[in-house]
Amino acid sequence: MILLNPRQHRRPYADARSTDVMRATIGFFEAKGKDKLLADYYDRGWYADFLEFVQANRIFATMCTPAGEGAADGRWDTWRICEFAEILGFYGLQYWYTWQVSVLGLGPIWMSTNAALRRRAAQALEDGGIFAFGLSEKTHGADIYSTDMVLTPAGDGWRANGRKYYIGNGNVAALVSTFGRIDGSDDYVFFAADPRHPSYHLIKNVVASQSYVSEFELRDYPVTAGDILHRGRDAWDAALNTVNIGKYNLGWASIGICTHALYEAITHASNRVLYTMHVTDFSHVRQNFVDAYCRLVAMKLFALRAADYMRAASPADRRYLLYNPMVKMKVTTQGEDVINLLWDTIAAKGFEKDMYFGQAAIDIRGLPKLEGTVHVNIALIVKFMPSFFFTPAEYPPVPQQRQAANDDFLFRQGGAKGLSQIQFHDYRKAFAGVKLPNVQRFAEQAEIFRELLASDPPGPAQMKDVAFLLAGGEIFALVVYAQLILENAPVYEVPDDLLDQIFDFMVRDMSKFALQLFSQPSSTEKQMACCRRMIRKAVHDPARYDRVWKEQVAPLSGAYEMRR
Ligand SMILES: Cc1cc2nc3c(=O)[nH]c(=O)nc-3n(C[C@H](O)[C@H](O)[C@H](O)COP(=O)(O)OP(=O)(O)OC[C@H]3O[C@@H](n4cnc5c(N)ncnc54)[C@H](O)[C@@H]3O)c2cc1C
Repeated sequence: MILLNPRQHRRPYADARSTDVMRATIGFFEAKGKDKLLADYYDRGWYADFLEFVQANRIFATMCTPAGEGAADGRWDTWRICEFAEILGFYGLQYWYTWQVSVLGLGPIWMSTNAALRRRAAQALEDGGIFAFGLSEKTHGADIYSTDMVLTPAGDGWRANGRKYYIGNGNVAALVSTFGRIDGSDDYVFFAADPRHPSYHLIKNVVASQSYVSEFELRDYPVTAGDILHRGRDAWDAALNTVNIGKYNLGWASIGICTHALYEAITHASNRVLYTMHVTDFSHVRQNFVDAYCRLVAMKLFALRAADYMRAASPADRRYLLYNPMVKMKVTTQGEDVINLLWDTIAAKGFEKDMYFGQAAIDIRGLPKLEGTVHVNIALIVKFMPSFFFTPAEYPPVPQQRQAANDDFLFRQGGAKGLSQIQFHDYRKAFAGVKLPNVQRFAEQAEIFRELLASDPPGPAQMKDVAFLLAGGEIFALVVYAQLILENAPVYEVPDDLLDQIFDFMVRDMSKFALQLFSQPSSTEKQMACCRRMIRKAVHDPARYDRVWKEQVAPLSGAYEMRR
């Protein structure tokens, strides 16, 4: 089975330490128990017990220290990071978040030539430290060009003044990688700030949560050359490249949350009897569960395949720059769909304070919005659309990347230049030879979209119309999503029934997005005609549907329940 089940942890790792990290983390949460987990969530207590576990077991030292920087068992290994993020999300987004912002805080450090700060970070990880990424500011949102964290020359160094907002772990981080600019110039800078310094003022936690999402202020904070991580163009690239690494993990938080919520929801619904029948005998409830399951398996297949491209990336192969933002925007919004479907089936039960579901329903909403909103990420990926559809290139095959290796390239990605020149392998090859009716139907829809782009591409006014681009971007994203799912289906031995059922929702989603593009005020007659042809009905096969329900979805009832 492709879904995580903590009772039967079997994911393969090339080394025993990786398996130990996963099992120890599961063990920590199962020993803590569901009652305490939820009590802490609703009481919003700081998760000191989790951080003590991390320290005692050197969990972040192993997971977050690249090879050669310190810990002998440390490496930046996306194969194991996937499941680690999934496990943390499975038990609670707050635990995932303290790790995730540490990942972000470490990005500019591991990318820096400042060896002394890298050594300090490695030692802090050994000591159980966590990290923070100080990019966002209260008034500037996604517009990081406008930073008001200003460094003014003073003696041999500078004095930093300014506030940062929404900075996770800013209360206790070993180091805060802080983004700013040198006064009177456009010279950006990343420097390491220490929350223990008297000129670092912690203002408040800006959210009501177990997580500490800080506002802090630097008042005449002394910055020396030894505190500088990056300057100028490098600082800008370090910010973007760090987010490239980090945003991938948001998809796994969604997958973990949805998996736990699915076990709870189906176990409840299968055992609830109304009007002498089980709730799961209602046709709409069953449909919701089949859909939720298919969407969740698709999320996982896509995110796993995206990891292969991330691990295989090089200056000559930057396809991950399309797949990563898609894990961020597509997988996380699919996560919202999964929770919506499940909540409709369990109704009042989803509000109860002794169910994980209540926290899942709240936390799943955050992931599409953090580290760049869905809009920002779609605006990013539409740049790839012409080259994706019209100038494919040949690449050597990328097999599954589960080797125990350090993902060196992620820390030397280079500048974010030449995005529109990145080429992709021909998506149509993934569809060729798959004879399943819904896969073929989806391929027809994708072809019509390609025809739309070739015959009546967005004009100059439409290119400036963000709403129009977002509608088209959703369709593009769905084609990429389908391609990587199809590439990964044989690797994970996804049965034909399930794959066709996955494409049942993909055909429906494509029809929905086609209608949205059709409805744009600026869509032309020709574009609307293509959109109309893209609206297709999925091929329903009752026997296939029944098999998916009986063989794959119904058995999830009772398959996992967290220890109380
Ligand atoms: C719980 C939490 C934790 C966080 N942790 C951290 C952290 O540790 N470190 C850190 O640095 N930041 C952190 N953030 C900040 C977070 O990354 C930003 O909130 C996020 O990037 C979006 O910024 P914004 O919410 O201010 O939206 P805004 O940037 O104000 O956007 C407003 C609207 O404009 C749209 N928009 C903006 N730019 C574009 C564009 N180019 N194209 C299309 N649409 C656009 C957006 O989609 C949105 O609808 C955190 C935020 C929260 C809530």
